[in-house]
This record gives sequence, C-alpha cells and structure tokens, in this order.
Amino acid sequence: MAASCIFCKIIKGEIPSMKIFESEKTFAFLDINPLSYGHALVIPKHHGTKLTDIPDDSLTELLPVAKKIAQAAGVTDFNILQNNGRIAHQVVDHVHVHMIPKPNETEGLGIHWPQQ
Ligand code: C5P
Repeated sequence: MAASCIFCKIIKGEIPSMKIFESEKTFAFLDINPLSYGHALVIPKHHGTKLTDIPDDSLTELLPVAKKIAQAAGVTDFNILQNNGRIAHQVVDHVHVHMIPKPNETEGLGIHWPQQ
C-alpha cells in the first residue's frame, strides 16, 4: 500500500467506491468516469505503478476477475484495457485493468449488476 495512492485509499475504504469484487489479492469497482455504463476497474491490492512493478502472483486474478464481472453483469461484448506509463495514457499510478462494456445495437447493454 502507498499512503498517497488513490486506489490504495479505495482498497482501504478511505475513499468510497462502488465495489464489485474483493479477494485477498484483488479489488474491483466501477470507474468514477465511465466510458460506457458498467465500466469497471480491476486492481491488485499490491501497490505498483506498472505491470512491471508487480510480482506475478499479484497479477494472476486480474483477467479472471474482469471476465467474471462481465459474465455476472451479462456483458457479452467488451474491451479489456491496461495502460502503463503516461505516453500510454496511464493517469492513476496503481496497476489497473479496465473492463469496458460495449452496447449491443439492438438490446443496449442489458447490464444487471448482482447484489453485493
Ligand atoms: O488507465 P488510466 O490510468 O488512464 O485510467 C484511470 C481510470 O481511473 C480512469 O478511467 C478514471 O476515471 C478512474 N478513476 C476512478 N476513481 C478515481 C480516480 C480515477 O475510477 N477516484
């Protein structure tokens, strides 16, 4: 954990978030400024700026959790995005995987977030 990191503060509950998932190593919540309805972020609890700063065992759940969130919400079409460094458009310096739902042309997103 890094004292000044906004995502570490979210993990600790010092900043409120719309939490979707939590395990020993991983935390997921809805993006505060969503690119589409249901845009979620999956983050390791281990603090590090880039993928290269984080041990492998803290990364293993990120994609499976993103997949579970999409499935649980009924999202069939989505993008996974993971930015490393300013040139790659990283803004928050704590590793995070975006799960960005893409609306279905006829049915919209049809998202139904499960109860926590
Ligand atoms: O990958 P990148 O660093 O550009 O994305 C950071 C993401 O974190 C943004 O989508 C932003 O809306 C989100 N964010 C958030 N809650 C905060 C601060 C940033 O969901 N308190």
